Amino acid sequence: MKLHEYQSQRILARYGVPIPRGQVATTVSDVRRIAERLGGRVVLKAQVYAGGRGQAGGIRLAEDANQAEMLACQMFGMDIRGYTVSKILVDEAVDIDREFFLGITIDRQLAQPVIMTSTESNIEYAQLAQNSPELVYRVPVHPLLGLQTYQVQQLAANMELNRHETAQFVQIALELYRAFQENDMLLAEINPLVIRPDGAMVSLDAKLVLDDDALFQRFDLGELRDETQETPGERLARQYSIHYVHLQGEVSCLANGAGLAMITLDMLRSKGIYAANFVDFGGGARAERVHTALQLAQADRPRAVLINVFGGLTNCEQVAQGILAAQRTHVLNVPVVVRMDGWNAALARERLVESGLTLADSTVQAVEWIAARIVES
Ligand code: GDP
Ligand code: MN
Repeated sequence: MKLHEYQSQRILARYGVPIPRGQVATTVSDVRRIAERLGGRVVLKAQVYAGGRGQAGGIRLAEDANQAEMLACQMFGMDIRGYTVSKILVDEAVDIDREFFLGITIDRQLAQPVIMTSTESNIEYAQLAQNSPELVYRVPVHPLLGLQTYQVQQLAANMELNRHETAQFVQIALELYRAFQENDMLLAEINPLVIRPDGAMVSLDAKLVLDDDALFQRFDLGELRDETQETPGERLARQYSIHYVHLQGEVSCLANGAGLAMITLDMLRSKGIYAANFVDFGGGARAERVHTALQLAQADRPRAVLINVFGGLTNCEQVAQGILAAQRTHVLNVPVVVRMDGWNAALARERLVESGLTLADSTVQAVEWIAARIVES
């Protein structure tokens, strides 16, 4: 789950990271009121899940409350990379001497956290890491020992910070790491981390991404979700606890469990077939969830559908009911093959065959059935 800048900044402020004074607004008059209270120049910042707002017109500097009001009129309702602006963060404007990028994420290859800095700010980290990895300085962090002061000092030296700046940076980096750990984050980045002309270090923009699978233990964080920033598909998947990932291929791949779904994807790939999506409707799914999973899968307009179920916690009868409901409501309008084993499979298979669906005896057979239809046509 992504957090908005204002939410991220507020969390970091609780850890002692300096942030500008400011407040979030949902109406033009709110913007005016906040700007008046802050006095002087303010920055209006569109709160959308998209990055690179600066270039897209989502970050505007206002000289006073009048101009802030005028700019807010233009910004509310504006579209930024597919996201509609409904909240604006009004921050006091900060004068900038230098800008940096500071981020922490989990390196999947090293299987440990990694802290990163760059003197290239103002560019999305993902973009930076992909296009010019040499501009990012990375230090792996031992997951049990945690981030060590000497490691942060190493980063500071690399950023060519002086003593006063280094002292502030060490504090901020250690606290950012603590926030990352304590809140089960997948990503914590400050971009830009700036040095003001008077030498003070401030976070001017933060982006935190929380691990959805850890949210159940943190109701306080779950409440920060902004449903207006989700696509209808993402919302549906979350409400029904379905793991849905859109992919570029042509076959929908549904399974009850991520492992089974991944194996099925791999087997399709071995036949030269790419999946249109990865849909894991999880253990113990009932008919309604299966039906919803099929709706999500079909929205990608696949040429065929493969449903792979191993009923342990999942009652195959329920899965069959979901599939039949999808058939009745014409959600399933392309060739479908079902592989089904486990709890109540015999009964469920019978019902599916009666309704004209194709059953495969094994995953291998299901994949071959798909291959015969996709590769050879
Ligand atoms: P992003 O483009 O979505 O990452 O939005 P940011 O909040 O990072 O803002 C983009 C850029 O706008 C920053 O890198 C700064 O250069 C500039 N900016 C943001 N806030 C201020 C501010 O208070 N004062 C000044 N002078 N520039 C700012
Ligand atoms: Mn930024």
